[in-house]
Amino acid sequence: MTSDSDTRPLAAPDLAQVRRLVTAVPGPRSLELAARRAATVAGGVTSTLPVYVARAGGGVLEDVDGNTFIDLGSGIAVTSVGNAAPAVVAAVAGQAADFTHTCFMITPYEEYVAVCEALARLTPGDHDKRSMLVNSGAEAVENAVKIARRATGRDAVVVFEHAYHGRTNLTMAMTAKAMPYKTGFGPFAGEVYRAPVSYPLREPAAISGPDAAARAIAVIEKQVGADQVAALVIEPILGEGGFVVPAPGFLPALAAWARANGIVFVADEVQTGFARTGTMFACEHEGVVPDLVTMAKGIAGGLPLAAVTGRAELMNAVHGGGLGGTFGGSPVACAAALAAIELYESADLAGAARAIEARMVPRLRALAARTPAIAEVRGRGAMLAIELVRPGTLEPDAAETARIARECAQRGVIVLTCGTFGNVLRFLPPLVITAGLLDDALDVLESVVTGAVVGGQG
Ligand code: PMP
Repeated sequence: MTSDSDTRPLAAPDLAQVRRLVTAVPGPRSLELAARRAATVAGGVTSTLPVYVARAGGGVLEDVDGNTFIDLGSGIAVTSVGNAAPAVVAAVAGQAADFTHTCFMITPYEEYVAVCEALARLTPGDHDKRSMLVNSGAEAVENAVKIARRATGRDAVVVFEHAYHGRTNLTMAMTAKAMPYKTGFGPFAGEVYRAPVSYPLREPAAISGPDAAARAIAVIEKQVGADQVAALVIEPILGEGGFVVPAPGFLPALAAWARANGIVFVADEVQTGFARTGTMFACEHEGVVPDLVTMAKGIAGGLPLAAVTGRAELMNAVHGGGLGGTFGGSPVACAAALAAIELYESADLAGAARAIEARMVPRLRALAARTPAIAEVRGRGAMLAIELVRPGTLEPDAAETARIARECAQRGVIVLTCGTFGNVLRFLPPLVITAGLLDDALDVLESVVTGAVVGGQG
């Protein structure tokens, strides 16, 4: 979070960091584009808020009708350094002018190497590391599994309830939720096994992190066999599954068990990585050092880039030519990543995420205290959420969650939903959002939620 006067890491000065609505939402130009879209874009690709963006900067998006929205989604945790961050824009323009593509597998370039050097430095652990670069989070997860299988000579992959790892065939198998991610898209890749996670709000009886890990381990040992498992893949905080923070001790116990059994512990930090949770990587909150880390989203200030970083002996277990891809580690995306990483470090954006938490959580807790429909406020840093239920129960209230998100959007605040049950509002502001924008967005959220209580559930 930055102060209102300090807009250095933000947008072009002509894009004011304010919320401003000048038409209905969506406005007439957006509606025209929606009609064109319906005639040409596949129906399976949907949009949360169908306002068409003209430009964006810092913590706001401006649509084609001139409305300006406060962005509490960051394009799903991507534009953490701010949208169109000037340093990223300059790096992209400079690199594009030098060369746009050669294919690292044909003729390499320094930017790829420099990104891998940075990832070795930034990811948890001081062991010898190697990295590979790809284009998307799902591709990073796929490659982590390939590497773990090749390195261990084993087949099985263990994932968890409520997990989200992507939409490719293997990662669909690894993702938990059927609709909309899996329904009708099978058959799925084999040798993927699901274990119980730690979801403190929804445990039938309170269970500690280590006990929840023991519960998962018992399932794996009985249903798979530890010596069959190549990799255990887990999000340190569940992302699409509902921003669930596991009970303390859950992740360390799983990591210790994986190590003791020769299983590659893969932290899927695609959503939690790059300062989002108040540390560079979410595993750091519990001192967990993963064998492999998958990264994407926040890595390159909005350019498509993803990575796997891990122990040199695992990464190097793959034969030459076994890893790669035409566009993987695009020079333009790498230049953007180097600029973004420089911003994460020089502007202490992990500290900014902690400042966002400190500003948002007390207000969210106060709201929860007077709103029986809010079962929990949770998250870390600038990865925060509220879970909505029917008051007095733990029954998920997806309709109410959708209504709040929709009404926030109508009032100029972009809020995303998530959760297996669709009943979680998640907040992922750009880490450079100004205090003024954040306060204004919270005012809107409060009035929409409170209106819900007065007008709806009573
Ligand atoms: N893993 C996690 C934890 C994610 O949150 C996501 C995206 N939401 C993915 C993997 C897949 O990333 P992508 O959409 O870039 O393929």
